Amino acid sequence: MHKNILLILTFISVSFSQNFETYFLNTSMRVDYFHTGTKDTESFSIDKIYEEKFFAGNKNNLIDNLNLGEYLFQIFDAKTNTLIFSKGFSSIFQEWQTTDEAINGNEKTFHETIRFPFPKDKILLTISRRNKFVGDGNIMQFGEIFSTSIDPNSNVSKNIETKNQSFEIFKNGNPNSKVDIVIIGDGYSNLDKEKFLQDANRFANSLFATYPFSKHKDKFNIIAVETISENSGIDKPDKEIFKNTILGTTYNFFGSARYVLSENNKSIYDAVQLVPYDAIAILVNDDRYGGGGIYNLYTTCYTKTDNPEMEWQMDYVFVHEFGHSFAGLGDEYYSSQVSYNDFYKKNVEPWEPNITQNTNRQTLKWKNFINDDTPIPTLWKKNEYDSLGKERSKLNRLANDYYEKRKPLYEREQEILKTSKYKNEVGLFEGAGYISNGMYRPSIDCRMFSVSLVDFDAVCSKAIEETIDFYTK
Ligand SMILES: [Zn+2]
Repeated sequence: MHKNILLILTFISVSFSQNFETYFLNTSMRVDYFHTGTKDTESFSIDKIYEEKFFAGNKNNLIDNLNLGEYLFQIFDAKTNTLIFSKGFSSIFQEWQTTDEAINGNEKTFHETIRFPFPKDKILLTISRRNKFVGDGNIMQFGEIFSTSIDPNSNVSKNIETKNQSFEIFKNGNPNSKVDIVIIGDGYSNLDKEKFLQDANRFANSLFATYPFSKHKDKFNIIAVETISENSGIDKPDKEIFKNTILGTTYNFFGSARYVLSENNKSIYDAVQLVPYDAIAILVNDDRYGGGGIYNLYTTCYTKTDNPEMEWQMDYVFVHEFGHSFAGLGDEYYSSQVSYNDFYKKNVEPWEPNITQNTNRQTLKWKNFINDDTPIPTLWKKNEYDSLGKERSKLNRLANDYYEKRKPLYEREQEILKTSKYKNEVGLFEGAGYISNGMYRPSIDCRMFSVSLVDFDAVCSKAIEETIDFYTK
């Protein structure tokens, strides 16, 4: 009996890798395209297709079963119409759709990239978005919004060799069975080369100092690629500071002082094209608190502060943002300002594994983590926490005395979180996803909730571990 099961399992795994050999080469196809639209329309057009030197993904897991992300791309073998690869992702475009600029009727284009193993024969590429409502408490299903056929034997560009030097920060094994993170830098001039390597090491260490990454260090490879900018530092449009940098990252993205992203997508993917990677992290050589993270796109994080007491906040930001970009985690906080309007729509269950509008114990996505005697929703000192809101809103993150003024408030917040009754349990705690009422998180505190060095909670940890497994098992 046991032997038979083992035989079947072996057979399945062999047939999956055979699938890889049947349909793919050992390199990657990179498809660059333009994603254009308004607050409620969107269209796609292909820009350029490349062959990249490496495929770093897992040859046994070609079909994405994680069901994360706002979008999904799928690759079909054109001859047999067989699904041979898929991957979920999110985009800057979808966030832009919830900003004032979009709501005021504007149209905008973003450059985007998807990557998959390089196909041997003609394929059909489709992009789908979550647009099918399937009842309360359920996440939306994907509906196809774009498709195009691609012939791998025509109009494919090859890698261009660059002078970018790469450095192994951690090497644990074959990229096909490890999570491969590539770290690049923006706003590091020729004089900042040494700082870049120090920063890359710092943030790799801060990731592995946080549970559950701490438990799985041996499943990661981390490589740093030196990307040199003309100037030191990055754009701060609100201060009229503009720099010439290689990746074009900027503060004030979507008008938020601390939000750091880049619209220069092509330069990011060009910078990493010569190394094997599954995930991109961008360190920005600047001193204003900030960062960003979008699922299966990239993480950004600042790397400087003139207040040594506050250096830990950089580690907080890096790991928090990596939670977004690597495992599709949602923000669990709800008490600071964001630039979105109705980022999460009422009565639409978020696809993020760690936030919910569902209050039904039987169908709740993290129901298996909840003890029978834990009340749903779960009481916590929310009124007390919210009563600090006035003081919180008076703080100016860009003021010189920000950290000084924030300290007593931070201590009171931590006191509330640490003395709430269900602090060590998974439950249904109201306040999450930028919404105070009707949106819930699994734990009182988590790296996705408070600005502190707290670990990921049990539900986020499971999502992270499932993603690690997908790349490594
Ligand atoms: Zn966040």
